[in-house]
Amino acid sequence: MNRRYRKTIIAGNWKMNKTASETKQFAEELKVILPKAKWCDILVCVPAVNIPAAIRAFKEMRVTVGAENLFYEKSGAYTGEVSAEMLKDLGVKYVIVGHSERRQLFGETDITVNKKVHAALNAGLHPIICVGESLEQRELGVTMDLISLQVKSALAGVAPDKLRKCVIAYEPVWAIGTGRTATPEQAGEVCTFIRATIRHLYGARIARSVTIQYGGSMNPGNAAELLAQPDIDGGLIGGAALKPDQFVEIINAANQE
Ligand code: PEP
Repeated sequence: MNRRYRKTIIAGNWKMNKTASETKQFAEELKVILPKAKWCDILVCVPAVNIPAAIRAFKEMRVTVGAENLFYEKSGAYTGEVSAEMLKDLGVKYVIVGHSERRQLFGETDITVNKKVHAALNAGLHPIICVGESLEQRELGVTMDLISLQVKSALAGVAPDKLRKCVIAYEPVWAIGTGRTATPEQAGEVCTFIRATIRHLYGARIARSVTIQYGGSMNPGNAAELLAQPDIDGGLIGGAALKPDQFVEIINAANQE
């Protein structure tokens, strides 16, 4: 983390978990144990149908609500999809784009990720852009090539002033939901590489202002070590963000003075 230049953001990704009533219950439990998080921002990205319930439930707390996906068109015949404007109108601030589950299961590509990044930014939302290699790609030794391609494709055409609104989440696919975490060194190395890639594209001043998160089985036991890496500015957390006590322990790890 480097709080001098950029925000530390601890974000939950609930995926397809929790009903609206469970969202309310989570918020009530969290409220009792949530510390005053002076040193980090807290975000919970929830299923689209739960956004209104989450906005109501987290209103009195310093917890921002985000979405897990959006479609890049403004409106039209796209049955089942949700636009950036619709999210914005509900009070959403952040939206996850290009999560590996969407890339693997729902045909998300670097091209659609780029379109979604633009749609989010044009609506005034902060995209959390997920990038990450599979185990096979890591073993082939092409991790950095792949990350470079994913970052450059996602940011193609994004103006420097808009880049400041983007968050990048490095999520090695082999570490998501598997209980297998990247070592702090592995995660730190890729996050440093992502910042270097942004530096080449946008210059040092902008690169140092971008929040880069790590995601992949982050939990209370490994969060502090991961967050101690200079280029890891927070976490995108799946499983551990579903339990208020575990989520708070990760927030505490990021909230050290
Ligand atoms: C995620 O969904 O982005 C994620 C990192 O999940 P988990 O923490 O469960 O690995």
